Amino acid sequence: MKRPLELSHDFLEEVLDEDAVTVDATMGNGSDALFLAQHSKHVYAFDVQEMALKKTAERLKHHGLSNVTLIQDGHEQVDQYVSSVRAAIFNLGYLPQADKSIITRPDTTLAALKKLLVSLEDGGRIAIMVYYGHDGGQLEKEVLLTFLGQLSQKEYTVMTYQALNQINTPPFLVMIEKHQKEKK
Ligand code: SAH
Repeated sequence: MKRPLELSHDFLEEVLDEDAVTVDATMGNGSDALFLAQHSKHVYAFDVQEMALKKTAERLKHHGLSNVTLIQDGHEQVDQYVSSVRAAIFNLGYLPQADKSIITRPDTTLAALKKLLVSLEDGGRIAIMVYYGHDGGQLEKEVLLTFLGQLSQKEYTVMTYQALNQINTPPFLVMIEKHQKEKK
């Protein structure tokens, strides 16, 4: 069976092609940015830590990819950089092997998500990997699920993919799709 992280990429890949503009909202070690770069025209990748930009730049260089704009800024500023998005991904929490006090936070995560939902093309998708085992993670999870549970079902489909019988707090996946507008 697929792990949530694997499914996140499969879910996005279905809507990607050589014209797609995509967003990696949390660069971290760059694995999502690499995946998006391999399947999109251009990627806008965000992180607040310099270390994430360095790791991602190295990874992309290693694969000979240059279609990613690396942005050291909060994802809540996403609308300053891009206005139309086919797909976006978040990996919440902290970056392993880095400063564990730098975590994604409910208010900024929600602000970024709301802006991305507006910029999302019809038929576009957002994947969110929710890590919630750390301090503050539970609150972020609750804020996020409350918001997503209230999104209009006319405009969006929202699904989760989550292990129910694993110990600790394994990350789970939230998948969002913006519906195609009905043709008149
Ligand atoms: N928990 C995941 C990795 C998450 S990395 C795992 O274990 O694989 C999350 C990244 O989000 C970190 O690199 C952190 O610096 C970044 N981040 C935190 N707040 C942010 C913000 N407002 N905008 C963009 N990136 C942010």
